[in-house]
Formats: sequence, C-alpha cells, structure tokens
Amino acid sequence: MVFLRINDNKVQVKKMAEMEELDSAKKDMYAWTAKYAEKAGYYLNPDAGMLDLVLEGMATNHLRHGKKYCPCRIVTGDEKEDKKIVCPCVYHKDEIETNGSCHCELFFKKEQ
Ligand code: SF4
Repeated sequence: MVFLRINDNKVQVKKMAEMEELDSAKKDMYAWTAKYAEKAGYYLNPDAGMLDLVLEGMATNHLRHGKKYCPCRIVTGDEKEDKKIVCPCVYHKDEIETNGSCHCELFFKKEQ
C-alpha cells in the first residue's frame, strides 16, 4: 500500500509539472500573439474562454512538436506542408480580410 501511495505521489508530481509547463507555454503564446496582433493591426479574440482554448492548443503543439503549429489544423509530418501552418499561418491574412478573423478565431480585423 505504501508503494502505491509513493507511485500516486510521483504521478501527481509529474502531472503538476506538466501543467506548470503548459501554463508557462500558454503565457509565452499569449505574449507572442498579443505582440503580433498589435504589430499587424489585429486584435485577439475578446472571448477569454475561446482565446484560452486556442492558446492552449498552440502551446500543446509547441511542447509536442517544437513549433507553434495552428491548433485548428492537422500536423501531417510533411515538413514542407506543416511549415504553412506555423502560426501565423500562410492563410491568416486572406482569412482575416475575407471573414474578419483567422480560421481559429485568434486574430480579428480591427474596424477602420
Ligand atoms: S488560423 Fe489563426 S491561430 Fe491558426 S495558425 Fe493561422 S493565424 Fe494562427
């Protein structure tokens, strides 16, 4: 029984470390996206829950794959193709111009 408790504690410590790592990566993603939005003349999704979801997906991709892959698109493993979906993806400017936001609804067009 003591052995199980030690293992449970190890699992909990590992999960806490992973959560802290994800949290830190999310903060980095937020800082980067906010800076990019400001520079590009966009604004970030004002819905805090949606924004958090997108940033968490991007942070997870960054931790898993080492790049800020779009959380709303599939990483194929084909380096040339996947390069197109590193945020900000090659599609975002057209999407924002046409739809008012990028596919993930991370970046929104400012009204003139
Ligand atoms: S759709 Fe938006 S969030 Fe996804 S990669 Fe393109 S710019 Fe980034």
